[in-house]
Amino acid sequence: MKTVRITQLDGALPNIALMKLAAWHQAQGDQVVQTRSIEPDLFEPAYDVVYGSAIFSFSAARLARFQAAWGAAIVGGTGSASSAKVEDITGDEFESLDYSGHPEFKESIGFTQRGCRLKCGFCVVPVKEGKNRPVGTIQDIWRGPGHPKHIHLLDNDFFGQQGAWRERIDEIREGGFKVCLSQGINVRLIDQEAAAALATIEYRNTQFNRRQLYTAWDNLRDERVFFRGVQTLEAAGIPPSRLMAYMLVGYDPLETWDRIWKRFNAMVERGIKPYPMVYNRRRTDLVAFQRWVITGLYRIVPWDEYKRSTRSAESTAAYAAHAGGSRTAPANTAPAPTEELTT
Ligand code: SF4
Repeated sequence: MKTVRITQLDGALPNIALMKLAAWHQAQGDQVVQTRSIEPDLFEPAYDVVYGSAIFSFSAARLARFQAAWGAAIVGGTGSASSAKVEDITGDEFESLDYSGHPEFKESIGFTQRGCRLKCGFCVVPVKEGKNRPVGTIQDIWRGPGHPKHIHLLDNDFFGQQGAWRERIDEIREGGFKVCLSQGINVRLIDQEAAAALATIEYRNTQFNRRQLYTAWDNLRDERVFFRGVQTLEAAGIPPSRLMAYMLVGYDPLETWDRIWKRFNAMVERGIKPYPMVYNRRRTDLVAFQRWVITGLYRIVPWDEYKRSTRSAESTAAYAAHAGGSRTAPANTAPAPTEELTT
């Protein structure tokens, strides 16, 4: 029996690769500790094997701290330079997930498809997953009786799994499942049939307490095709007010604040909730913009005023830190995005 430490370094959602690794080690009779702590606790024992996974490139500093603390650790994830896959250890056939490291998470999580039909330059999915293909059913993902029929799908291109998506929609509807598609549906490729199918299922936000679909508008040049998709959804019975759209900022070298405002204002005018995703987190102006939007402050505080208050809060915090005072995280700290930049 080995002792194993499995460390999730980032991501709001449970990390499926690490859950699979935990289940596999347990199946070998190993003793597994799952944690989000980067450094060892004071009384933490030594382990035979230590793993760490980071899915975001902006977790580089956390990953470096982890590797400094656990020199022999095996590291993976899209936020690391490693190309190691969990299947290299578990084999391709092993599919079980261990949820015990995430007692607060009541849903079932997984993929019905992998890959994507598109190839956006900033996105890891086409490189990592390749062409769109079905990989599982809703019944495969659901933990079974005794667990809520809440399915958190991590699919990046649900409607790209030719043919199979219709069976998955039937399964969701007939099985009485509620589904969160937090990685987003590809509104640029949505057609009337797919929109009508979506309108028949119980789509939900990440808390499963509101009807919400996620999509993306990453580049101003996609304006026409984006709103054509929005219109197709609306005609099928899904109003724009039920859409949250990720908007990538800080990636396009031609991007200007004027172009950002055009996207932002066009969405707000249609009742769509924007969710900025900051490509380069050293751009503190964009990080502040992200906070202003996703906290909902944009509805009540003008951007210029918010920017000024943020600057003054930063100066106060910097002064307090310099003077040895404690620094409290601002109340409007942005929630972590759920996944790498996709869809
Ligand atoms: S961003 Fe979305 S649509 Fe673009 S390649 Fe990635 S998964 Fe596909």
